[in-house]
Amino acid sequence: MPLANRTIDPVEEEQLLDAIDRWVVREVQPIVKDYDHADKWPAKTVEQMQDLGLFGATISPEYGGLGLPASTYSKIVMRISRDWMAVTGIFNSHLMLALLIEKFGTEGQKLEWLPKLATGEIRGGLALTEPDAGTDLQGIRMTARPDGNGYVINGTKTWISNGVEGHCFALLVKTDPEANPRHKGMSMFIAPKQEGFTVGRKLEKLGYKSIDSGELVFDNYRIPADNLIGGEEGQGFYQATGGLELGRINVASRGVGLAEGALKLATDYAQTRKTFGKPICEHQAIQLKLGEMVTRARAARLLTMDAAAAFDRGERCDMEAGMAKFFASEAALENATESMRIHGGYGYSKEYDIERLYRDAPLMCIGEGTNEMQRMIIAKQFIKRHPV
Ligand SMILES: Cc1cc2nc3c(=O)[nH]c(=O)nc-3n(C[C@H](O)[C@H](O)[C@H](O)COP(=O)(O)OP(=O)(O)OC[C@H]3O[C@@H](n4cnc5c(N)ncnc54)[C@H](O)[C@@H]3O)c2cc1C
Repeated sequence: MPLANRTIDPVEEEQLLDAIDRWVVREVQPIVKDYDHADKWPAKTVEQMQDLGLFGATISPEYGGLGLPASTYSKIVMRISRDWMAVTGIFNSHLMLALLIEKFGTEGQKLEWLPKLATGEIRGGLALTEPDAGTDLQGIRMTARPDGNGYVINGTKTWISNGVEGHCFALLVKTDPEANPRHKGMSMFIAPKQEGFTVGRKLEKLGYKSIDSGELVFDNYRIPADNLIGGEEGQGFYQATGGLELGRINVASRGVGLAEGALKLATDYAQTRKTFGKPICEHQAIQLKLGEMVTRARAARLLTMDAAAAFDRGERCDMEAGMAKFFASEAALENATESMRIHGGYGYSKEYDIERLYRDAPLMCIGEGTNEMQRMIIAKQFIKRHPV
C-alpha cells in the first residue's frame, strides 16, 4: 500500500481513537508529571505504545505496520499531545526513519528493516542536524568515504531525538564534500548502533523531557554499502526533504494537541477560580483570552486536517503542511502562554500541568524547519502557484 491514497473505515478510525483516548486517560495522565519532572525515560509507556502499534502507525501493512492514513495518524498525535506532547516524539522520530526507508529504500532494505521498526523491536530516529548546521543542512560536515565494499563515516550529529535510547538512525552525510551544488554530494544511510558509533552526551533541555536528545559521535564507523538508502549516492538531500510533508503534519498535530490541552486547562481553571465573588471566566478580560484561544486551536486543527487530507489524496502539499506547522506551533505557544496567565501565580508552580505545556510549546516552532523558514517556504510556494 503506498504512503498516499490510504483510507480507513470511519468506524474503525473511531474505535482506534477511542482506544488511544482510554489509554491516555488510564495510563498517561497519572504519570506524566513525575516522568517529566524527573526527565525519566518512560519504558512502560514505550511498551504500551508498542502494543498499540504506534511504532508501525504509518508503515504499510505488507511490512507489518498499521498503514494508517496521515489524517488518522495526525488525530492520534493530537490526542496524545493534549496530555503529553513529548512522548509522541518517541514514535514520530522513529516513523521518520521508517518513512525514508519505505519511500526511498530498495526492496531489500524495506524487507530487512521495516518489519522490525513496525513492531518497535528496533526504535530509531532521524539524524540530520550537526553542531554547525541545522537550517542550512547542506552545510553538514559528516563524511562517508568509500572503503572496500562499504563506507567509513566520521563526524558528529547533535540534538538527535531518541539518540540515547534508540537503536538505528537515518544518517545524512556528505559522500562528496566538494560537490557543487552542495546537495549533490549528500547521501543518507541506515545507521545502527555498533562499533564506531557512540552517544557523546544526553542534552539538557527546557522542556520536551523524558524523550532523550543526544549528541551522536561517529569515529571510523564502518557501514556496508547495502545501508545506503536507495543504493545510490547523491540522493540524501532530496530524501531528507522528501519526508518533510509528513514530518510537518506531525509537528502541526503536536501543536494542535498542545494548543487544545492548554485551552482545556485554562477553561477548567477559569470556571473554578473565583475573584471578586465570581469565577474568573465571568470576567471579560479572561473571556477575551479564552475566545482567542479556542479560535486558534480550532483553526490550527482545521489547517492540519486540510494538509493531512491533501497528503492522503496523494497531492503535493508542502505549502499546506508548512501553513499547518507554522500556524499550529504558534497557536501552541500562544495558548500555553495565555493559559499560564489565566492560572495566575499557580501557572508558575510546578504543581500545575500548564508549566509543562509552557516549556514544551516552543520546540514546535523550531523542529521540522523553524517558523522563520516556514513563512518563506509558504510564500515561495504561493508565488509559484500564482504566477503573473
Ligand atoms: C529538542 C530538539 C529536538 C530535535 N530533534 C532533532 C532530530 O531528531 N533530528 C535532527 O536532525 N535535528 C533535531 N533537532 C534540531 C533542529 O532541527 C534544529 O535545531 C533546527 O533545524 C534549527 O537549526 P539550528 O538549531 O542549527 O538553528 P540555525 O539554523 O542556526 O538557526 C538560528 C536562527 O536563524 C534563523 N535562520 C537560519 N537561516 C535563516 C535564513 N536563511 N533566513 C532567515 N532566518 C534564518 C532560524 O530560523 C533560527 O531562528 C532538534 C532540536 C531540538 C531543540
